[in-house]
Amino acid sequence: MPNPDNPISRSIEEKIAWAETCYQEKGGLLLRDEKSVILLNRLKEAVRASRAAMVSAGVADECKTCEEREGGSCCGAGLEDRYDATLLLINLLLGIQLPKRRSDPSSCLFLGPDGCLLMARQVICVNYLCKKIENRVNPSKISVLRDKEGVELECLFLLHERIQRKLKAYVPG
Ligand code: SF4
Repeated sequence: MPNPDNPISRSIEEKIAWAETCYQEKGGLLLRDEKSVILLNRLKEAVRASRAAMVSAGVADECKTCEEREGGSCCGAGLEDRYDATLLLINLLLGIQLPKRRSDPSSCLFLGPDGCLLMARQVICVNYLCKKIENRVNPSKISVLRDKEGVELECLFLLHERIQRKLKAYVPG
C-alpha cells in the first residue's frame, strides 16, 4: 500500500478509497495501539469542547442564519481537496462514515444537510471565522473558542503523526 500523503496529488475519491482500504486492513491494529486510542479519545473530547464553545459564543447561530437567510456558506466545492488520506482515515477510526456523493454540487463533498459530516477536520475548517462573525461576536468569547480550537488542533496533529508512524512500521513504501 503506497503512502497516500505523498506530494503527488490524488483525487479525493482516491484518498477516500485508500482510507477505507487502510481502515479495513489496519484499523484493528491502530485501535489496539494504546497511544492512538488515548489520542482519539482526547480528540473526541477536544472537538466536543470546541463545538460547545462555538455554540456558547453564538457562532453556530450566526452561521445558521447566514446560510438560511443570507445564502452564505463557507464550505464551497473544492475544499475537500485540502484533506489528506490520513486525516480521512482518522475520521473512520472515530466512527465517521465518509460520503460517496456530494449533497450539493456547489458545496464541499463533506457538507451534509446538518453541517460538516467530519469529526477530525483540518485547520482552515476548524478555525476560520469570517469578518461578519468577528464583528458580531463578543471578543472574549472568541478568545475562549480559540483556546479550545488550539487544543483540538494539537490533539489532531499528534494523532496524525502517531498514525503515520504506526503505518510506516507495518506498511512498506
Ligand atoms: S467544515 Fe467540513 S464541510 Fe466545511 S469545508 Fe471543511 S470539511 Fe468541508
